[in-house]
Amino acid sequence: MKIDASSLRGELLRAHPALDVRSEAEELLAYSYDGTAALQQVPGVLVFARSTEQVSEVLLFASNRGIPVVTRGSGTGLSGGSLPTPGCILLCLSQMNRILELDPANLTLLAEAGAITAEIAEAASHAGLFYPPDPGSMKISTIGGNVAENSGGLRGLKYGVTRNYVMGLEVVLPDGEVIWTGNKCVKDVAGYSLRDLFIGSEGTLGVITKVLLKLIPPPAARKTMLAVYDDMENAARTVSAIISAKIIPCTLEFLDRVTINCVEDYASIGLPRDAEALLLIESDGHPAAVEEEAAAMKEIALAHGASSVETASTQEQAAGLAAARRTAFSALARVGPTTILEDATVPRDRLPEMVRHIQDVAERHQLRIGTFGHMGDGNLHPTFLTNEKDEEQMHRVEVAMKEIFAKAVELGGTITGEHGVGVAKKAFLPGAIGELNVEVMRRMKRSFDPRGILNPGKIFDLSPAS
Ligand SMILES: Cc1cc2nc3c(=O)[nH]c(=O)nc-3n(C[C@H](O)[C@H](O)[C@H](O)COP(=O)(O)OP(=O)(O)OC[C@H]3O[C@@H](n4cnc5c(N)ncnc54)[C@H](O)[C@@H]3O)c2cc1C
Repeated sequence: MKIDASSLRGELLRAHPALDVRSEAEELLAYSYDGTAALQQVPGVLVFARSTEQVSEVLLFASNRGIPVVTRGSGTGLSGGSLPTPGCILLCLSQMNRILELDPANLTLLAEAGAITAEIAEAASHAGLFYPPDPGSMKISTIGGNVAENSGGLRGLKYGVTRNYVMGLEVVLPDGEVIWTGNKCVKDVAGYSLRDLFIGSEGTLGVITKVLLKLIPPPAARKTMLAVYDDMENAARTVSAIISAKIIPCTLEFLDRVTINCVEDYASIGLPRDAEALLLIESDGHPAAVEEEAAAMKEIALAHGASSVETASTQEQAAGLAAARRTAFSALARVGPTTILEDATVPRDRLPEMVRHIQDVAERHQLRIGTFGHMGDGNLHPTFLTNEKDEEQMHRVEVAMKEIFAKAVELGGTITGEHGVGVAKKAFLPGAIGELNVEVMRRMKRSFDPRGILNPGKIFDLSPAS
């Protein structure tokens, strides 16, 4: 059903006068993209929901008319997940941002889906508790977006990703029905875990309106170290060696030379500009265990070619080093007009091969690629510094990307470790997981959303390409 923006707004408001519906061209333009490069589409209208009831009203309205609905948190996604589809209702949850309850007896926190991740972490910290998932975007991203993408972060290696902290969800189904899945129980095996199905479903099965999160006690001590390398592969080998030594540190982050220099240009942290690679290593836990773990990791790093391993002596210094890693994407994004950040992930023992392959691809296709990422998780972010207006260069980027994904899959890895498939990686999905797996996903999508109104065309198309 094709309908122009002002008629759609008028119809929505006639049905539900309290809704905040926007259809001004300038406003629609501002919401026509997410964090993914070179993707843009103006939505039909923009709705800011203020309650679960309003989300339900919008979905029932859309479902009755077959109008597509794209859910949006803060729009920081890196696979085009909240990119509007033509004529859609862009349903923005950023105004549903309250933290509703912190339960110290059960160690849980209940928040609306639009609550900002960093505010959740702060609320937990004020109560003497800890919410570990810390995506680089946590100061802007919403918890609903984190759940929909099953986001990771810098502490994923030891503490896991968003999924590991979701205990319950309130979800509005495409026809407007509202369900709760999960609860405050540590154990619950009553039926299928629908909660787990919604986690990572990228807004294609339902709209998450409330999230019940698990909190944990914070670690008593923390130690941050920076290992410097003049050979990237040695940094990758160090990661495998640390894990093989049965040490699971809180953080094992990687920055290559291109990224180090961009971060220095941007933030002047004092990183060694001539290093080929850096590993940011963080240990946390009981003070004695942290001392022991940090000493063992330092020894391993030096034995695997680190030219130096510095330990942060103050909390400010440690925070500065973590900030260096967190600013990596923003720092790289300043260099070229178009920054394409990829998300290839491999088993940790294949990291040296993957790092070498990315280097080789960059050289062969004469492209500038800065690589950083959660190396302890095998999750690398090769980042293309390009210009989308240069067609010839973009063609080389496309070929290079295919080669990187093909290698990741060949090494037993995946095309995305945390950013999701969205539209950006849809074409690579069947090759990565097999057509039958994609078909099973289609069947699930059809049973939740028979009219296909929720985030259509994301992850896969409902009809396989012929
Ligand atoms: C600088 C930067 C650093 C980043 N670092 C990381 C990182 O370290 N780790 C990581 O995993 N990601 C990272 N990301 C990617 C991104 O921030 C995450 O995917 C984040 O979870 C998206 O949250 P959002 O609120 O912006 O969601 P959006 O971008 O608005 O939406 C993302 C997807 O979730 C769906 N969605 C959003 N809200 C809901 C909801 N309430 N119900 C159902 N579906 C919903 C959307 O439809 C879309 O498919 C980074 C991005 C940037 C720009």
